[in-house]
Amino acid sequence: MNKDIFLVDTHCHLDMSQFDADRAEVLERAGAAGVRHIITVGSGVESSMAAAAIARSNDLVHAAVGVHPHDAKDFNDGAFKALLALARDKKTVAVGETGLDYHYMHSPREAQIEAFKRHIELALEVGLPLIVHSREAARDTVRVLGQYCGAGGPLRGVLHCFSGDMEMAGELVAMGFYISFAGPVTFKSKRSSELAGIAASVPDDRILVETDAPYLAPEPFRGKRNEPAHVRHTAEKLAQIRGIRAEDVARITSLNAFRLFGIGEVSGEGVIAYPIRDSLYLNVTNRCSNNCSFCVRMKGDFVKGHMLRLRREPSARELQEAIGDPAKYSEVVFCGYGEPLMRLDVVKEVAGWVKQRGGRVRINTNGQGSLVNGRDILPELAGLVDSLSISMDAQDEETYGRLCKPLHKDAFRALLDFISGSVRYVPDVQVTVVDTEGVDVEACRALAGSLGVKNLRVRKLDVVG
Ligand code: SF4
Repeated sequence: MNKDIFLVDTHCHLDMSQFDADRAEVLERAGAAGVRHIITVGSGVESSMAAAAIARSNDLVHAAVGVHPHDAKDFNDGAFKALLALARDKKTVAVGETGLDYHYMHSPREAQIEAFKRHIELALEVGLPLIVHSREAARDTVRVLGQYCGAGGPLRGVLHCFSGDMEMAGELVAMGFYISFAGPVTFKSKRSSELAGIAASVPDDRILVETDAPYLAPEPFRGKRNEPAHVRHTAEKLAQIRGIRAEDVARITSLNAFRLFGIGEVSGEGVIAYPIRDSLYLNVTNRCSNNCSFCVRMKGDFVKGHMLRLRREPSARELQEAIGDPAKYSEVVFCGYGEPLMRLDVVKEVAGWVKQRGGRVRINTNGQGSLVNGRDILPELAGLVDSLSISMDAQDEETYGRLCKPLHKDAFRALLDFISGSVRYVPDVQVTVVDTEGVDVEACRALAGSLGVKNLRVRKLDVVG
């Protein structure tokens, strides 16, 4: 992992006795491993007081305060008041850990549910997110949270060290909750493979990473005491599972930690060049000639943790400076949080510059480049562009109009002409469709084939980059 990339361990227990001998060294190793923030999570009133004290004495550390469901039977008004006072400490960023544990059943089910609800009420009172533990209690966990989580409701939180199933993950995400993965996702077992499937499917804007130290050390430390520095191994595994780089996981999960807990920093400046995997993406414009119902621009400003909302469009010179050496990347991709061919002159100038320096050029486009520029632009791309990825998105004009809401009349006809013409000027052409209601993928494939393009890729809804 790149040493300049930073991680957040969103869940560990630094107050525990396993760290008494070397707590300072553990924090030092975490810092050296790129862990920029740590949340140490209380598991009882005393443990929460200790967590808050550690947080107050170390810039790297923040606290969460709560009583573990194992001890729910002892949770009373005195504990609630003590946690309320701790929750108001400026280094406290969450309430928890709370939740339900029906595996060990150290406290009766009813007592666990009652304590869980009181933690939720505490979190709502102080306006902090909730850190939830759930073991063999998926249905009750979702049911209780659902009582407080209407769509857009105020309760926010994370299911830590996720061990549920795909259905539970989907329900939590739909409620606005985050899902955090710990060491078990790195283990080699049938259960870990199932967990990997879930980790692959959690949306970018809902995933977190943690150690749960001193427990559950990831491979290659399985069975040993865990510590925050090991969070990078879980991040690396998540990267492998999700088909991206560990740096991408670090950026995505750090942004999510900022969103949920308010820790760390997030740039308010839109980036104009950003790496994902081995490619460099160029954010050419935020304008587009469509208003697709599934467009990620409508839902936020970030892709893979990169802020893409531009205050102004970059010049060709600024893009070249941001690229540096184009040969360092497998390809330079003109995209944008919008349609890059709305800035045809800039795209042509920078693409030519990239080609002169041994780079490879791809354009991701909605295929309306000729329509918006008022002429057939494909001959102008010959020799400048190695690869085109054209969003076709529908099998007919009616569906296209409904899903993509183009600004221009005849946009679908222009898109089809662009696709059929592109194969004469660009060596590698792919069309894409989003897997969403109303899209007939096989009909799209047949239509693309009739236009001379056999390569069709189905994009998952809400997954970009
Ligand atoms: S074409 Fe792409 S950028 Fe434009 S609205 Fe549709 S999804 Fe968004």
